[in-house]
Formats: sequence, structure tokens, C-alpha cells
Amino acid sequence: MTKQMLCWKCGGKVSVAAEMVGSSVGCPHCAASIDVPGELFGAPMASTATSRSQAGASKSPAGAFVLNFLFWGAGYVYLGRMWGLWILIPFCLLSGIGCLAMMESGPPPYTPGEAALWNLPGVALAFHAHNMAKQASQ
Ligand SMILES: [Zn+2]
Repeated sequence: MTKQMLCWKCGGKVSVAAEMVGSSVGCPHCAASIDVPGELFGAPMASTATSRSQAGASKSPAGAFVLNFLFWGAGYVYLGRMWGLWILIPFCLLSGIGCLAMMESGPPPYTPGEAALWNLPGVALAFHAHNMAKQASQ
């Protein structure tokens, strides 16, 4: 007996056999390792929810919050959302340039309040990743 489940990473359909329950299979689309849940063969409707919770399973909302606050997008990558790299990479480049500029001209004349204001997007991203992790663990 085989069933189809969705890859937690790319969302592609993967055929798995009943005897694969408890082990993992390689996704034919993106080569991600996918755990085959036993519920897949007991309750077919649970497959989507299971693969979705696997993406965020055992990830702490607080960890995602702190990562996204300090490094924009890193919290998403932490939660298995690889598109977070599209935020993280430009952020690293920009903050790298910012650090270089700081070494040239000395520390910026920011007050802590202004620095916090500058990182408002980081706060928003942090709360978003926090909620995402919380929903995934429910
Ligand atoms: Zn895949």
C-alpha cells in the first residue's frame, strides 16, 4: 500500500509505502529528508497537518523571535522556511556595509532609542516568526 504525502520543504507530492513508516525517505523533487508518520496510513487527512508541524516541530518561538530580531530572516530559516534567506542575505550584506562604514567614521551618533527605531522591521519580523513557530507547534 502506498500513499502520497507532501514534502515539508518544497510541497511536492511524495509516494511512500506503509513499510516506510518510522523511517525517512528522500524527496524526489528537492532531496529533502522526509519522516514518514504512522498517522499517514491510519488517518490520511492528518498528512498535511503532520508535514506542516514537522517543519516547525521542536523549534522554540523564542528562538525564532531572537534570531529574526538580530538577523532579519534568520528566524524563518530556523523554522525551515528557506525563503528567509532572501531576507537574511541582503540584510547581512547591508549590515556588513554598515559595519565597514562605522569602522571608517567611528560609531554612529545614534541614541539607543534611534537604534531601536531603526530595527523596527526586525521587531515586526521577530513577532511574525514567533507567531509562526507557535502555530506550527499547536
Ligand atoms: Zn521536496
